[in-house]
Formats: sequence, structure tokens, C-alpha cells
Amino acid sequence: MMRKEDSYDLHAWDTVKGADFLADQDVVEFFVEHAPKELVRLEHLGCPWSRTPEGKISQRPFGGHSFPRACFAADMTGLVEMHTLYGRAITQENIKFYDEWFVTSIVVEDNIAKGLTAIEMRTGEMQALHAKAIIMATGGYARIYEFTTFSHTSTGDGMTIVYRAGVPLKDMEFVQFHPTGMIPQGVLITGGARGEGGYLINAEGERFMKRYAPEKMELAPRDIVARAETTEIQEGRGIEGPYGPYIALDLRHLGEDKINERLPLIRDVAIKLGGVDPVEDPIPIKPAAHYSMGGIHANIKTETLVSGLYAAGECSCLSAHGANRLGTNSTSGCLVFGFVAGEEAAKHALSSSFREVSNDKILAEETRVFDKILGGEGDERVPLIRDEMRRIMSEKVWVFRSGDDLEKALKELLELKRRFRDVRIEDKGRGFNTGLVEAIQLDFTLDLAEITVACALARTESRGAHTRRDYPKREDKNWLKHILAYYTKQGPRLEYIPVTITKWPPTMRAY
Ligand SMILES: Cc1cc2nc3c(=O)[nH]c(=O)nc-3n(C[C@H](O)[C@H](O)[C@H](O)COP(=O)(O)OP(=O)(O)OC[C@H]3O[C@@H](n4cnc5c(N)ncnc54)[C@H](O)[C@@H]3O)c2cc1C
Repeated sequence: MMRKEDSYDLHAWDTVKGADFLADQDVVEFFVEHAPKELVRLEHLGCPWSRTPEGKISQRPFGGHSFPRACFAADMTGLVEMHTLYGRAITQENIKFYDEWFVTSIVVEDNIAKGLTAIEMRTGEMQALHAKAIIMATGGYARIYEFTTFSHTSTGDGMTIVYRAGVPLKDMEFVQFHPTGMIPQGVLITGGARGEGGYLINAEGERFMKRYAPEKMELAPRDIVARAETTEIQEGRGIEGPYGPYIALDLRHLGEDKINERLPLIRDVAIKLGGVDPVEDPIPIKPAAHYSMGGIHANIKTETLVSGLYAAGECSCLSAHGANRLGTNSTSGCLVFGFVAGEEAAKHALSSSFREVSNDKILAEETRVFDKILGGEGDERVPLIRDEMRRIMSEKVWVFRSGDDLEKALKELLELKRRFRDVRIEDKGRGFNTGLVEAIQLDFTLDLAEITVACALARTESRGAHTRRDYPKREDKNWLKHILAYYTKQGPRLEYIPVTITKWPPTMRAY
């Protein structure tokens, strides 16, 4: 039931419960207190939020929230947030943009981040950049899957880059599957469509969520809705379509005026890419890989275990989202912890000096990228290995998992990593060599897929977005802890750290 009044504690409780109690509660409390300030800061920078009739910033219901607290800009929230920030950033003379540069590694020596290597795409030259502080903000990695809401470039590069430099990744078994990826491409139909009152319907015309989350229905957290949809499909109640069985997202009862006002992009995208006008027909959808709860292990100040190295946004795991992120908590988290990272990194830089970077590291990186990957003369191809990785992840590491499937997935991924060593890129040129970039990205994602599977195998319980058919229950006694994955040549080495509980000990999670 929606509450009439909101509070920090209510938002924190929704987030902690949504996270299936794996979130660090000190981080959640910090986040909910700072999120409204950041939204107002964005307003002052010119963000065109949708308004109430009285002119206040409008808010709407969203999955897992017990107050309509999602600030939005029609159905283009992330887009306008990004444009507001970018538009302001390019007016600042002391910010230099390195557009069309591709980072391949960071240089860490004596546990200090000293700089990074990047390919300047125009020339194809590798450059080394010194830095007093580095903030990783390189996004998530759901492109390890086939059916995903992510853009093609979301390959989690920054996570692998720091992992290989010795920084652990945390909670990588938790990948979020969004309930409404539009068929056939996986383009996201925002949770705002259900927030405005959209229904989910199976082949029998039933609003099946009443059997899975009788109170919250379609506005239950994403892990629960994605499991419900997958169960409906697997039990034969999906609607048959040319791309396999699907679920219908019905917006027709909202009426054309409301759809045009609140969901104009969704209507446009559904018509152009899905071939349906939601005013007249339900949109065919199913779960799509959407968000990385796991990422670079960092603390509440965004500090990693390496001095001078910070992480914020989706590539990081500060543990605000635990085992399942609530919708709207990501971009607000990016704003809150992006600000923290900026402040902390600036403080660090002001009290540090540039350090010498040994040439060996840079030469080794040039050898890896240009001699081994670009110079490779084997007979393997990047798109084939990439498709194979995505097929393995989609078949064996999806919404429901099992030990057997995960074991097989790990074996097959290791074989793909072996095959990657024989990759050949046809274009041997340097300028704008996108084939080379795709090969480097594939190399990064193979590590991330392997880590995801290794952590999913280790976690013998079901929690949030990680559901094991062979271990269907949450096991707080053994598993109320985070998994850290450290790089070794033989594969990830796992360690465990406790979850921070401040006010909300774990209880049963029902909606
Ligand atoms: C379709 C869609 C809709 C969403 N809607 C919402 C929403 O309504 N509310 C919400 O809270 N969350 C939403 N999310 C989630 C949220 O948008 C993301 O979690 C968030 O935008 C991540 O921001 P980021 O800055 O961390 O990463 P990104 O926005 O992914 O940015 C990462 C940047 O790093 C760059 N980069 C990566 N690797 C390299 C490299 N090797 N060298 C150089 N540059 C590199 C990329 O090019 C990119 O510019 C949505 C996600 C998707 C996919």
C-alpha cells in the first residue's frame, strides 16, 4: 500500500528490504539523506523535471517503493539528467574532455594509483596519462548477456581494469533482470509504465502478479516480477510469438492522453522498434539483463583498497543496492556518490604529487594490446566468441540458476578464454579501429562472466536477484555476507566480508 508521507527511514527501509538485506545500511542511510539534495541541485542546474499542477517536482510510484517518490522527466529521466550535467560540465574551463579515448588499464604501483593507459582512437596511439587521483565511472556489464537493455558499449571495462590491477570486485553474482525488456531487441520499457498503472498479463489474460505479490502486484521489486514472468513462461502460460513465449504489458486502459503525456518515448519506441502502438495493443516483453548490483569494492567515501583510486556509479559496489536494486535508486545513487567521489578525489589530489610511472607497465600494456590482440594471427573471431559467451550466460546464468548449470557455464567460459588467445582481427590499421576495441572489450567481459559464475556458484542460497533452484531459501546464518573476488592467474579468489546492519535486522521479505 502507498504511504501518504515519505521519510528518510521509509526510503531506507524500502531499499534495504528491496536489497534482500544485503545492502550496507550505513551506505543506504547516507544515500537516502543526500538523494533529495542532489535532485534539487540538478533542478538548479536546469534539469526539466516533470511538475505537479502547483509547479512542484512531480513524483510517481515505482517498483518496491512504498511512497510515490520517483522524480521523473516524462519517460526520459536518465537522458535529461545526463544532458543537464554534461551541458554544465562542458561550460567549465578547468574540465578537459578526452573524447574518443579508450582506457585499457590503470597503473598501480606500491598500492598507489599513478595513472592509466588509453588508446587515442583517432590516431590509434597508446598514451600514458599521469594522475594524482582516478575515479572509475565506467558503468555496468550486462552486455555479457544476449537479451539486455544495455547499449553495446556497456562492457564493464573499468571493473576488469581495476580487478586486474588487484582491486577486488564485490557481489558479482547479483545481476538485475528488468521485468520489461521489449521483444525482440530488449529495449527497456521503463518501470514508469507500471508506475503509471500498466498491467502484466499472461496467455490466459490473467494479471498473474496477484499470485506472486498480492499487495504490490506489478510494482513489486524487479527480482520478484522477473521471477514471476519467467515462471509463467516456463510453466506454459507465456503468449506465443515469433521470438518465443512472452508476457504482455498492457497500457491501453491508461488512455492515449496519459500515454502521450507521461510515456511519450515508450509509445514512440514501441511503435518504431516493437511494431505495436501501446494505445491499441499490449507491448510484448520479458525479463532482460539490466543492471549490475556488483562492481568495484569501495567504501561509503567511494575509496577502493588502492590509494588515489575511487569508484562511483554502476561500475562500483558501495553496497547501497545489495542483492536487488530498486528502480530510480541508480541515477540518484550516481548523483550522490558521484559528488562524494569528486570531493574525495579532489581532496586527495590537492594533497598529492604526480608519481613516476615505470615504463615497464606501459610497455607491457602496449605488448598486450598491439602485439598480442591486434597482432594475433589465429583463426578465432571476436563476434563468434562473444555470441557464444552471451548464449552461455543466457542459458545457464539467467533468472533461475543451478549448481550443475553454473559448473557447465564455468567450464565453457574457460574454454572461450582459451579460444580468445587465438583471435584474429582483420583490420590491422590503427585509426578508429573499432574491431580492436571490441576485442579488448570481449577480453574484459570474459573475465566478468567468469567472476559472475564463480560467485554465483559459491553463493549456495537464494537472495534478491540470485535464485538457485538447488538452494531455494535465503540463508542468513551462512550468507549474510558480501563476496569479494580477487584476480589471480588461475581465476578469481573469493573472500567474504560482513554486511553492515544499523537499524533493520533481516526479516521475511513479502510484498
Ligand atoms: C535503458 C536504461 C534505462 C534506465 N533508467 C533508469 C532510471 O530511470 N532510473 C535509474 O535510477 N536508473 C536507470 N537505469 C540505470 C542507470 O541509468 C545506470 O545505472 C546509470 O546510468 C549508470 O551510470 P554510470 O555513469 O555509472 O555509467 P554509464 O552511464 O554506463 O557511463 C559509463 C561511461 O564510461 C565510459 N567508458 C566505459 N568504458 C570505458 C573505457 N574503457 N574507456 C573510456 N570510457 C569508457 C562509457 O563510454 C560511458 O560513457 C537505466 C539503465 C538503462 C540501461
